[in-house]
Amino acid sequence: MIRPVAVIGAGPFGLSTAAHLRARGIPVRVFGDPMVSWRDHMPEGMLLKSTPAASSLDCPQSGYTLADYCDAAGTRRLVTDEDIIPVETFTAYGEWFQQKLVPGLERVRVVSVDRADNAGFALTLESGESFTARAVVAATGLSGLAHLPAELAVAAPGGPAPTGPVSHSSQHHDLSRFVGKELIVVGAGQSALETAALAAEAGATVRVVSRGRGRVAFGSPPWKQPRFRPASPFGRAWSLWAFSYYPHPYRYLPDATRHYLVRRVLGPLGAWWLRERFTDRVQVHEVERVLGAESRDGTPVLTVRTHAGRTERLTADHVIAATGYRVDIAAMDFLGYELRTRLAVSRGTPKLGPGYVSSVPGLYFTGLSAASSYGPVMRFVCGTEFASPRLAEHLAAAHG
Ligand SMILES: Cc1cc2nc3c(=O)[nH]c(=O)nc-3n(C[C@H](O)[C@H](O)[C@H](O)COP(=O)(O)OP(=O)(O)OC[C@H]3O[C@@H](n4cnc5c(N)ncnc54)[C@H](O)[C@@H]3O)c2cc1C
Repeated sequence: MIRPVAVIGAGPFGLSTAAHLRARGIPVRVFGDPMVSWRDHMPEGMLLKSTPAASSLDCPQSGYTLADYCDAAGTRRLVTDEDIIPVETFTAYGEWFQQKLVPGLERVRVVSVDRADNAGFALTLESGESFTARAVVAATGLSGLAHLPAELAVAAPGGPAPTGPVSHSSQHHDLSRFVGKELIVVGAGQSALETAALAAEAGATVRVVSRGRGRVAFGSPPWKQPRFRPASPFGRAWSLWAFSYYPHPYRYLPDATRHYLVRRVLGPLGAWWLRERFTDRVQVHEVERVLGAESRDGTPVLTVRTHAGRTERLTADHVIAATGYRVDIAAMDFLGYELRTRLAVSRGTPKLGPGYVSSVPGLYFTGLSAASSYGPVMRFVCGTEFASPRLAEHLAAAHG
């Protein structure tokens, strides 16, 4: 029997990779809940920060872009930089892409991946089934990687939870639960600012607590972008252009530079269209640092140091930590212990070679976990355009 390639993940990166592998005639089994991060772990009513040109899942066939989906669904065509994409439309687009190009998707979790005795990989599914794959693509995206800083974690000893004093932004889909409540959102990125605006619009009293000065900022609208700089999916700038179209040499940069750039390039900045909705409704509290947090009878209390050097205590009914995601191989618990210890890593992230292959032949990583090797573009949907054809080509040559 021909052993398939296993693609673990059915978000934009897993689906795009699977479409490329299938187009090459490579037998594939694809696992995961399609578009779950977008459907369940982002707020209802959210709008995408990325433009339509940067929001298609890459595949070798024509006819499967976001605009093609809009045509097929009979909805308004989203094409220009001023067309804002509702998360519900993007989720439906991903599901449509899956039905068309990855029809045999299996909605089941992979619980373990280990080296097989006679080459390849032994996988076990939540259903109890075990099988051997010739290669494995880990495209598990944001799953399990939500980051809660230690100073906030102490107020949530049982882990962050929407019903406890502190939660993570990924745990909210319906923000109407905060109607009439006081809410603190910690963070200054798009997720923090949009969560805050949506909660305020739903009827909560919201404060954003942001570290540093002037961190809460918004991008320029498309018509104010500098004309004489090259265009990229993220706006006009030489650096963004290079990171978007030339990620090849990224993995040769020194470790510290790679990790720094992944964090800082395209770092915290609100979308241009959010400014007005945010400014009128949300209060911003700039602090030097969040020193700690505690729960007093279920009510969160944040201790912060102000820029004037004072210590202040801030209370609310609930704190949402919009503190992002952190790749850590140790958190990818479906990878067997032996496999994890054999992987070459850099600050918890897999070190990838050409074609997204890890130091274990046959084991590939794509999406967020590939960002420290291929740059910040891997954190975004448009990264599928670079990643998927290259991964599929390498895998076909080595294991096809
Ligand atoms: C609030 C927010 C807003 C964002 N907005 C944008 C934006 O506007 N534009 C943009 O380009 N990017 C945006 N991003 C980034 C975006 O989420 C990622 O680029 C994208 O989702 C990554 O896709 P992925 O396929 O790697 O992972 P995900 O979309 O996270 O998918 C992960 C998949 O892995 C599956 N999975 C996980 N573990 C297992 C397992 N053990 N077995 C089987 N399946 C498993 C899940 O079921 C799921 O199908 C945003 C992120 C956040 C948090």
